[in-house]
Amino acid sequence: MDDLRELYQTTILDHNKRPRNFGPLEGATRTADGHNPLCGDKLKVYVALESDGSVGDVSFEGEGCAISTASASMMTEAARGKPREEVQATLERFHGLVTSDPTTDPNLEGLGKLAVFAGVREYPMRVKCATLAWHTLQAALDGQTDPVKTE
Ligand code: ZN
Repeated sequence: MDDLRELYQTTILDHNKRPRNFGPLEGATRTADGHNPLCGDKLKVYVALESDGSVGDVSFEGEGCAISTASASMMTEAARGKPREEVQATLERFHGLVTSDPTTDPNLEGLGKLAVFAGVREYPMRVKCATLAWHTLQAALDGQTDPVKTE
C-alpha cells in the first residue's frame, strides 16, 4: 500500500495542476452540474454521446479542491470513447473502492490508473470530493437536469 499511497499523492498533484479535458466541449449532447457543499467543489461535466449511446467525448470545468479536480480529470480519461456499460461498471467499481473499509485490501480490479484513489479511503471527508465527478457524469448520461448534490 505504500507505493499506492505515494502514487496517490503524485497523481493527484499532477492532475490538479494540469487537468485533462478541461473546458467546455464543443458538440456536447449532455451536460450536468455537480456540487459538493461539504468542501465547496463545483463541477460541470460535458458529454458528447455517440449514436450508439457510447461516450464519444467528455470534458469538465469548475473549481474545487485538488482531489475533486484530479478525480474529474481522471474520470474524463477513463470514460472517453467507452461504451456506456463499461463506464457504468467503472463508476460502480470506483465508488466501491473509495467507500470500502480502509483496513481491508482494496479491490482494484478493472480500475487501472483510478486505483490510486484507494488513498481516499483513509480520508472519509474526501470521499465525496472523489466521487463528485462520477456522480455528475452519471447525471449527464441519465439526462438528469437537476444539479447533483452530494448532501
Ligand atoms: Zn473537495
